[in-house]
Amino acid sequence: MSPRYDAIVIGGGHNGLVCAAYLARAGKRVLVLERRERVGGAAVSEEVFPGFRFSVFSYVVSLLRPEIIRELDLPRHGLHILPLESTLTPLANGDSLTQWNDHDQNRRELARHSLRDAEAYEEYGRRMHHMARAVKPLLAMAPPDPASLHPRDLMRLAGLGAHMRGLGKARFHELCKLMTMSSADYLDQWFECEPLKATKSASGIIGTLAGPRSPGTAFVLLHHYMGELDGVFRAWGFAKGGNGSVSEAIAGAARSFGAEIRTQAPVAQVLVEGGRATGVVLENGEEIRAGRVVSNADPRRTFLGMVGEKHLPAEFVAAIRRYRFRGSSGKVNLALGELPRFTCLPQGGAALRGAISISPSVEYLERAYDEAKYGEFSSRPYLDMVIPSLLDPSMAPPGKHVMSIFVQYAPYRLNGGWTDARREAFGDAVVDTLAEYAPNLKSAILHRQVITPADIETTLGLSEGNIFQGELSLQQMFFLRPAPAVSRYRTPIQDLFQCGAGTHPGGGVMGASGRNAARAILGEGA
Ligand SMILES: Cc1cc2nc3c(=O)[nH]c(=O)nc-3n(C[C@H](O)[C@H](O)[C@H](O)COP(=O)(O)OP(=O)(O)OC[C@H]3O[C@@H](n4cnc5c(N)ncnc54)[C@H](O)[C@@H]3O)c2cc1C
Repeated sequence: MSPRYDAIVIGGGHNGLVCAAYLARAGKRVLVLERRERVGGAAVSEEVFPGFRFSVFSYVVSLLRPEIIRELDLPRHGLHILPLESTLTPLANGDSLTQWNDHDQNRRELARHSLRDAEAYEEYGRRMHHMARAVKPLLAMAPPDPASLHPRDLMRLAGLGAHMRGLGKARFHELCKLMTMSSADYLDQWFECEPLKATKSASGIIGTLAGPRSPGTAFVLLHHYMGELDGVFRAWGFAKGGNGSVSEAIAGAARSFGAEIRTQAPVAQVLVEGGRATGVVLENGEEIRAGRVVSNADPRRTFLGMVGEKHLPAEFVAAIRRYRFRGSSGKVNLALGELPRFTCLPQGGAALRGAISISPSVEYLERAYDEAKYGEFSSRPYLDMVIPSLLDPSMAPPGKHVMSIFVQYAPYRLNGGWTDARREAFGDAVVDTLAEYAPNLKSAILHRQVITPADIETTLGLSEGNIFQGELSLQQMFFLRPAPAVSRYRTPIQDLFQCGAGTHPGGGVMGASGRNAARAILGEGA
């Protein structure tokens, strides 16, 4: 008897949903099984406190691939992205640096801090744009294995080689620097203004237990630079209704193509028979058969948890054990009775509607990392914030606000472990830090939600609370993600595939892993 489904997708994170949508669009009978009561994984919106809605985990959209928005017609399913026009970096002396999307406004503001940087910025922007364009084609491909002699890999490598040669010497050399340098060293080559360097280098450390001076972080800077909204690189936006509406739009598209989505359906085991994946067993014992199984869960959960070591080659198990998670980020979500009044912006203003970053200097960030390196959360952390209710008033009751604060560093392996008291102490460190720049903050707080890497692991099933299903570090990118020889969405088990952020091109609300995996399954040569 043939199984009822062509494919089961384990996990309704946005990548699982993207994969399901593409498979269903191709006429496959698809079932998505999500452990939680809602789809979205790390891209969810929840009414955490009555009347206050939050993008509980991920909070800004930038990396979502334009081809996915187009091909799945996501606006028709409710996706509406509101642009974030600026990044404000408040400073301890009451001044600030604001980076604006508007070219002239940005230049004027930079020149106020450093004429030299204002001039260098033009060329920097051009260079990063070229670098992002150089790397962009890699996002949509299943990475070829350089150690393979398979004609398909050799052809792809030759194509990649030709692409790299086409960049010309100068850009290729620049790319090599970006692949190997630290974000701070790379930016030192361009700029002198500390808040500018710090705020930019912060993109290189997100989701990774590394400091801005750690080698390899410049590449992550580039990863984040590849965000593209309406064809503009490095543009960030906020999804109306929060990041959950991105997942809901993708789920809507998947359903419109006929995919079935079940929530509160945790998978306990992948059925492996004769070396093939033949279905899954839910935690309640229900067995569901399918021609293929696709896992959106991270590589550790997938292979060491649901598949089981006994079905896998020992060398592969060792590689998955070595794959690094080391969660280093937390989140604080605030319900506010009034807007925070920043000392640098006593009258408020347009800059509050963009991102706000506590990153006054590279040294500040590196010191924040130092504490995490030795197992403590940062007493003065890096904070990246948005106030979504300013862009989308439906997120909070009239006159009130929500604030989303992404925090680094909060090491998963905290000395003594995470307890309720340590969680609150971490929340206090965040609020104390921010209150130094916005003195009314403490009295404005109505409720707060503090999320540690341990909470991220428990709630979302992300191992060690790593926000990207594994660190975005060079040794686990491209054909090494999650392990050599299984980086093409396939696995050592026939008919078992992976489609989550633990595969190339990695984390972020990007959808690329889900789309690439679907193409690999459909034999479209992704
Ligand atoms: C705090 C935080 C902040 C972030 N901020 C941003 C941001 O602002 N912008 C950005 O682009 N990215 C951000 N990210 C990263 C981004 O959200 C993730 O990389 C991305 O959402 C991963 O999507 P995914 O579908 O691959 O995996 P996930 O979102 O991890 O989804 C996996 C799904 O599988 C389910 N699952 C796991 N095990 C099982 C099982 N046994 N049975 C059934 N279901 C299972 C999980 O419940 C989950 O729904 C952030 C992440 C976090 C945690």
